[in-house]
Amino acid sequence: MKLKDIKIKKKTLQKVFNYTEDSSKEIGGLLIGSLADDFLIIDDAITGNQSSTPIHFSLSEDFLVEVAKKFGESEDYIVGWFHSHPGFGCFLSSIDRATQKIYQSLFKHAVALVIDPVRKSHKFFRIIEEEVVELDYQTFE
Ligand SMILES: [Zn+2]
Repeated sequence: MKLKDIKIKKKTLQKVFNYTEDSSKEIGGLLIGSLADDFLIIDDAITGNQSSTPIHFSLSEDFLVEVAKKFGESEDYIVGWFHSHPGFGCFLSSIDRATQKIYQSLFKHAVALVIDPVRKSHKFFRIIEEEVVELDYQTFE
């Protein structure tokens, strides 16, 4: 099975940077998009109520239910998730790996985007054969 390469809208990547620029806590949300012939297209990012500490966030159940309803009738899916690691670099922690495995079990092309607003870096990941793999991506207007 070939997993799709990533294309993300420039404005959406900027939206993720804006959401996560508060470096005092970990902030996250969901990536919305669709599958095209050769690509996983990410064209939106959303965030909602969440509990957050400096090292972990989780989205509220209400928010997830709301999102699931919204996308139940649309051609867009939840294609991944994003969260920030303020000042401690871009990688998947053991909790992040467990979360990413759930997303990939629901949608095999799902990706994790980790942003460090302090170091101004970001990386996309998937878990492939139990290994965390950093992914290349393209942007579009
Ligand atoms: Zn994390």
